[in-house]
Amino acid sequence: MIIVMKRGAGEQELRHVVEIIKKHGLKAHVSRGVERTIVGCIGDEAKIEPLPLEAVAGIERVLPVLRPYRMASREARPEGTVVKVGGGSTPLVELGTGAISIIAGPCAVENAEYTDVIAAGVKEAGAVMLRGGAFKPRTSPYAFQGLGEEGLKILRAAGDKYGLPIVSEVRNVRQVEILDRYVDMFQIGARNMQNYDLLMEVGHSKKPVLLKRGLASTIEELLMSAEYVISMGNHQVVLCERGIRTFEKATRFTLDVSAVPLLKKLSHLPVLVDPSHAAGQAWLVPPLALAGAAAGADGIIVEVHCSPEAALCDGEQALLPAALRRLAADLQTVKNVCAAHLQE
Ligand code: PEP
Ligand code: MN
Repeated sequence: MIIVMKRGAGEQELRHVVEIIKKHGLKAHVSRGVERTIVGCIGDEAKIEPLPLEAVAGIERVLPVLRPYRMASREARPEGTVVKVGGGSTPLVELGTGAISIIAGPCAVENAEYTDVIAAGVKEAGAVMLRGGAFKPRTSPYAFQGLGEEGLKILRAAGDKYGLPIVSEVRNVRQVEILDRYVDMFQIGARNMQNYDLLMEVGHSKKPVLLKRGLASTIEELLMSAEYVISMGNHQVVLCERGIRTFEKATRFTLDVSAVPLLKKLSHLPVLVDPSHAAGQAWLVPPLALAGAAAGADGIIVEVHCSPEAALCDGEQALLPAALRRLAADLQTVKNVCAAHLQE
């Protein structure tokens, strides 16, 4: 941490600052410039980080040297993290190996028949995991809210039948226990990215967590949320860029493609792109998915339905399984071509 003293700060103020630093077990390195004095703090920054140092007389600014998300930062694990999902009743899937993985399925689990057909279709198209909401976070309380536990049973059965580990959204702390009985991976939705109780609860779980970026959250806030999960002991976190709120209304959300290489550089965690919720329209999903692959994503999570016009939730943005098959063929090619241009 570097402390910049105010112009004109006196010797007494400087002495007080040095005392605070030493009191917390760190060393202070004072450099006197012509206009300003700078104090470098050497030692365990975590000890003085929580202090309101900018309120101390004579201090103008405090500049942290380390990132506030220590365990999620790339420095914590420069080689990158491979997150392992499933492996019980389904094959084990590894996210973050350099390949691009496809997680696909309906927005919401609607019934066993559709789920079975969709699971068969996405498997055939090359997906390695099945998604499907059972507890849906809907804007309207009158919209279809999902089948709840019944939906999880249906998703589990389809995942087991087709050898696809399953991921589903957990909306609150109480549901963690229910979801834990069925899913291979917890999904924390965009609207819950800063639900710290929920982050801590899944942080105590042994199952991997798919953490989606909040609608209006910064990259740093996303990484701080990942830090919550990791700091509770669960290191199996996958980040997901799913579009953010901007002034643009032509798309549902604006896919922040730059978040992908940035997250890969700043963090060791695998990064997925959700082109479906960003696009809001099915025809726009493949180009956004390919943009994500070009930007270095470790995979996509994409909505697929066998009968989009009959879907109870997000039918407009659902791909048919055949469209996913066409997309899957090009995703890895694009990722490979672009990999040489990415810096990790
Ligand atoms: C979803 O994936 O079903 C979903 C609701 O996504 P998000 O939380 O990103 O809106
Ligand atoms: Mn959806």
